[in-house]
Amino acid sequence: MTAYADFQNHIAELSDLLNAISILKWDARTQMPPGGAATRGNQLATLSRVAQAHFISDKTARILDAVEAEIAGEDPDSYRVRAVKQTRQYYDIVRRIPVELTARKATLAPVSEHVWSEAKKNNDFASFAPYLRQMLELAKQQADAVGYEGHPFDALVFEFEPSVNAASLKVLFEDLKAGLLPLLKRIVAHDKPLEKDLWAREYPLDKQKAFGLEIAQKIGYDLERGRLDIAPHPFEISFTRNDVRITTRYNLNYLPMALYGTMHETGHALYEQGVSAELTRSALTTDFLGQYPVGGTSYGAHESQSRLWENQIGRSRDFWNVHFDRLREFFPEQLADADPDLLYRSVNRVRPSLIRVEADEVTYNLHIMLRVEIEMALLEGSLQVEDLPEAWNAKMQEYLGVTPPNDSKGVLQDVHWSGGGFGSFPGYTIGNVMSSQFLEAAHQQVAGLDDSLRRGEYAPLLTWLQQNIYQHGRAYDANELLVRSTSSPLHVKPYLAYLEAKFTGLYGLS
Ligand code: ZN
Repeated sequence: MTAYADFQNHIAELSDLLNAISILKWDARTQMPPGGAATRGNQLATLSRVAQAHFISDKTARILDAVEAEIAGEDPDSYRVRAVKQTRQYYDIVRRIPVELTARKATLAPVSEHVWSEAKKNNDFASFAPYLRQMLELAKQQADAVGYEGHPFDALVFEFEPSVNAASLKVLFEDLKAGLLPLLKRIVAHDKPLEKDLWAREYPLDKQKAFGLEIAQKIGYDLERGRLDIAPHPFEISFTRNDVRITTRYNLNYLPMALYGTMHETGHALYEQGVSAELTRSALTTDFLGQYPVGGTSYGAHESQSRLWENQIGRSRDFWNVHFDRLREFFPEQLADADPDLLYRSVNRVRPSLIRVEADEVTYNLHIMLRVEIEMALLEGSLQVEDLPEAWNAKMQEYLGVTPPNDSKGVLQDVHWSGGGFGSFPGYTIGNVMSSQFLEAAHQQVAGLDDSLRRGEYAPLLTWLQQNIYQHGRAYDANELLVRSTSSPLHVKPYLAYLEAKFTGLYGLS
């Protein structure tokens, strides 16, 4: 057997373990009765330990030494070389993280998450603060173990978004704010209620599900390799490209919740289903640091796809011009007095609000930026945990012009920090920015793309995205994908131009 075949087999075993862990997680979040939680925790802990031991073993080092000698001199951009190089890079990083640190984090995270959910329920930040302090301390230790040159945040964001760091994010954020803050001011000054409130009516859930699934398939989701379930916190999860599942949640009145939840997760799923079959069970579909089997190259690249399909396609005027009549077949009474234009405006209302997950396209990134800026300040020690609610509220007022009435609707709203997930937030905003760069390039490179989208034909766009992004799995990082397919690194111009054009039209701004 060649050293490369040996390497592939070794990684394939790890991939199988990680996929089994993911299936148990999917089950826990969609099907498992509550009584199963404790023993499921044991199963996950055992399998995670086995997977971790498999990866950081001396055997992996021997296999890597052999395969590196065998592929020396090959094309550095080939999948083979990329697979070996990335495995070596992550092997060295994971080996630097003390086993006790990983264990402490794994033990503390569920307790901290539980305390957080109680604190959120009771509007009691003080009870959560000691746990947040501990999670923050563990994150700092992890950053020190992984190593960084500029800012401790660099070591943490690396897990989610290897091609950015604190310094580059600060520049990106300043560029974004320079466009977003004035646009938001103009919109707020022109805002008035819509003539009809479509979301005061009732939309039976089975029909919502049927319409959502129809749209998901129309944009390219393959149900032979996928399924849709209900989850309180919607997500997409893949166990190889052959089994890519999505979830959504339903509200009887607010139809956009389930529909756009479904379209968002379908965007993630299209990415995973579009990964080249030759990368199945390989290093290029494995997140070694996070211990996930995943085809997308980073959080930002993944979000660029969920947001492209949800917002740029799903919340466009073209989309509702094409699909409104079909939606009205499902809801003839509810939408009897509506038209495509009213629907378009009803799913694009901009309002500065308190809650990130309910935010519109214009305000969303402001919610993200304030979180990332707070994380950086906490990590560098310029902000203390006890001063967090005050700092949060001040930034909400500065960016969005609203102040949370309590911490439940403020600093306690997101689960991320309670589990130690520092460094994951930038992916949302990077995804938004990337989505416009990709779409702009697709329009330049695919003849007649405008017309096909206007007709509700999504195959030409999907094909471009598959060829330029999805098929490569994790072979190239987010910035490499951008440069290869759009000839430009991450930059905000196309995204700001998209928002400016869309909302200037919607609100009649000049
Ligand atoms: Zn997402």
